[in-house]
Amino acid sequence: MFQLKFVEGAKPGQPIKRKKNENEKNEENKKRWSKYEEKRNDRPFKESWKEGRSWLNFDESKGAMTCFTCIEFYGTKSIGSGLKGCNTFLTGSTNLKKSAVSDHELSKAHIDATANIAAKCSDSAAIASSQAGKAMLSLHLSERQRLMHLFRNAHAVGKKGRPITDYTWLCNVTEANGVDLG
Ligand SMILES: [Zn+2]
Repeated sequence: MFQLKFVEGAKPGQPIKRKKNENEKNEENKKRWSKYEEKRNDRPFKESWKEGRSWLNFDESKGAMTCFTCIEFYGTKSIGSGLKGCNTFLTGSTNLKKSAVSDHELSKAHIDATANIAAKCSDSAAIASSQAGKAMLSLHLSERQRLMHLFRNAHAVGKKGRPITDYTWLCNVTEANGVDLG
């Protein structure tokens, strides 16, 4: 015997809308997710391009690639036509191909920028450790000391209300004490 049951929302001649149970919902979400993942993998820019390329940046919102190194060296405005293959990586290259990345990597402009920035970084370290660098830094120190003595003498003269001739005299005394005031 049929058991008829009243279902809310049921219409004659139409299948009853069932509420989806949890399992079905999960299945659907999984499908949706894998579709999204597929799309992600289809995305032209590949994260793997960044491997070994600390300079490469991908701006997701613009869908464009830029070069940290070139931007640091040249700025974000496009530069002369002599630097072929570089301009787009300053403003954002939408040519999302691996060949565009390697072309940029091998461009003269990029190599120049990399070399210049590397030289700048090693310079400050080299100055601190080299003999010439130490000599230069100590020169700065003696210059500071010289100025300090001159100011101190001028301050002493001014504070005591002494005539300017006393300043010359005081500086001579300082020099006599072994300080070179130049
Ligand atoms: Zn570059």
